[in-house]
Amino acid sequence: MPVLVKPEGFPEIRGKMLRQTPLAAYTWLRVGGAADMLFLPKDEADLAMFMAQKPADLPVFVMGAGSNLLVRDGGIAGVVIRLGPAFGALQVEDEVFIRAGAAVPDKMLAKFAAKSGIGGLSFYSGIPGSIGGALAMNAGCYGTETADVLHSVIVIDGFGRRKGVGVDELNYTYRSCGAPKDWIFVEALFKGQKANTEELLQQMQKINDKREQSQPIREKTGGSTFKNPPLLKSWELIDQAGARGRKVGGAIMSEQHCNFMINVENASADDLEQLALSVRKSVKETSGIDLQWEIKRVGRS
Ligand SMILES: Cc1cc2nc3c(=O)[nH]c(=O)nc-3n(C[C@H](O)[C@H](O)[C@H](O)COP(=O)(O)OP(=O)(O)OC[C@H]3O[C@@H](n4cnc5c(N)ncnc54)[C@H](O)[C@@H]3O)c2cc1C
Repeated sequence: MPVLVKPEGFPEIRGKMLRQTPLAAYTWLRVGGAADMLFLPKDEADLAMFMAQKPADLPVFVMGAGSNLLVRDGGIAGVVIRLGPAFGALQVEDEVFIRAGAAVPDKMLAKFAAKSGIGGLSFYSGIPGSIGGALAMNAGCYGTETADVLHSVIVIDGFGRRKGVGVDELNYTYRSCGAPKDWIFVEALFKGQKANTEELLQQMQKINDKREQSQPIREKTGGSTFKNPPLLKSWELIDQAGARGRKVGGAIMSEQHCNFMINVENASADDLEQLALSVRKSVKETSGIDLQWEIKRVGRS
């Protein structure tokens, strides 16, 4: 069991600071070592105070729902931050805007928007992450991405300062955000348009049916392993390289969607990383293309 600690010289936080907390259970791939320390801030002020007062050289990593993370077997140095219920608010503003806390699951935002008669956010019903992760990854699917529906965000920066930032300042590109690496997203304001609740619920159902058929969504996976290169599909390149169903240790490239890795038999993080690296090498040999990671690999080998 992780031990509650107040490390010496650390800010007097009001949330929890847990030592040597295994992170596998917090990730979709269910692999990886422990966080040296896991900080669960009580609320935004607690988070801001921690960031303002923490030692300058202390590494900090923020995780969301862990649906795009490969945490390596050696765990993560320094402090891992997870945002909890205090960052879980959802509220309609000015009829077509929704303010959402960073810990809100994407699917919950989609459902809330539908029930509020606000269209444009249904695509989130197919993405298993949190709003914080969606903002950091520019998550999207079926032709819409976060940058298309985002108005602005609230962040806590590396010095604990609270800032409001417009979407244009975040320099979004495909599955990537150009914000400074030490910004922690705490809130987002999305802009939709008036729509019919029944139709939105049907849209969401269609998205979920499509996913059920085409992706191994009930497995231990991290979603797409590699980004799609411009005008190409990674899964096609992987298929052409003969890597569909390739296995390393307990890790396999899904037969159903061969850009998805699955932890089938107690894989280690290293099994998964080696599998992806071998697939990447095969794709380079057969097509000349260097696939770029979409999954974020973090921590010590
Ligand atoms: C079955 C499955 C299907 C998927 N389908 C899609 C899809 O269709 N489209 C798509 O885009 N993605 C998809 N993904 C990938 C994943 O769900 C998204 O990338 C998601 O946005 C990650 O959110 P998360 O909360 O899980 O973030 P995490 O995986 O925990 O973290 C991802 C990154 O976000 C950063 N981050 C998280 N929270 C914050 C915060 N508050 N402030 C700053 N940085 C933060 C982390 O540091 C990390 O760099 C899928 C994954 C799975 C498992």
